[in-house]
Amino acid sequence: MDRRHCLVTGANRGLGLEFVRQLLVRGHHVVAACRQPGKALALNQLAGDHPGRLHVLPLDVGDPRSHAELARELQLVTDGEPLDLLINNAGVLRGGERFGSVRPADLEASLRTNAMGPFLLTQALAPQLADGATIANISSEVGSIALKQEFRTPSYAIGKAAQNMATSLLAQALAERGIKVVALHPGWVQTDMGGAQATLTPAESVTALLQLLGRLEPADSGSFLDWQGQPLPW
Ligand code: NDP
Repeated sequence: MDRRHCLVTGANRGLGLEFVRQLLVRGHHVVAACRQPGKALALNQLAGDHPGRLHVLPLDVGDPRSHAELARELQLVTDGEPLDLLINNAGVLRGGERFGSVRPADLEASLRTNAMGPFLLTQALAPQLADGATIANISSEVGSIALKQEFRTPSYAIGKAAQNMATSLLAQALAERGIKVVALHPGWVQTDMGGAQATLTPAESVTALLQLLGRLEPADSGSFLDWQGQPLPW
């Protein structure tokens, strides 16, 4: 891939930070969006190591005002050049939920961050996306209604299922501009969310996901794929 402009949300830790690292290694310009740039030590260190190629901007994906602010600041740091890759990675998972005591606030937080966030941020940034750009919504197999599952993490599962619908609708809305939108399950990954027992390192997952994104065809837009490129049922 030539040198591209990329934006990653939830970029201060976990998979988001690894996406930023690997995109920089590949020579791209990266905008890393996170809630508290001043506290994002790893990102600020990377910015120092890659002068002019990494910009760290504030974003709370659950707040539409923050989307508008990011859209404004993005224009400044990219000199008006369009975005080639948007990775909607930020996500929240509330563990330990039991039927009978699921809290409205947890369900609402999941819907805001995991579903509304990627949809509304993409809508806000759409004018700044290059024709033919790629959007990766980091989903989860837990959001698949078709895969048989036990009753677990309902707020997260409902949020990711709603995000999957957002992916499908965004693919329709942006098809005429050749913009590909996919939902990606990153595997079970060793992050704060995935825990130490997870089977993949962030480096393994992100390496596979970036390779997959690099070989997407327009016909793949609107699909739900795992980190190995296998289709998942909705
Ligand atoms: P982490 O919990 O390690 O990191 C989550 C990231 O999302 C953090 O940077 C966090 O920022 C950010 N975030 C959360 N809420 C917001 C918000 N409102 N605004 C901006 N940023 C926010 O998770 P992972 O890195 O493991 O997960 C990344 C993505 O991958 C998520 O979408 C997750 O659902 C998905 N996923 C992960 C799996 C795994 O096994 N790890 C499996 C399947 C899917 P802050 O530091 O400010 O909290």
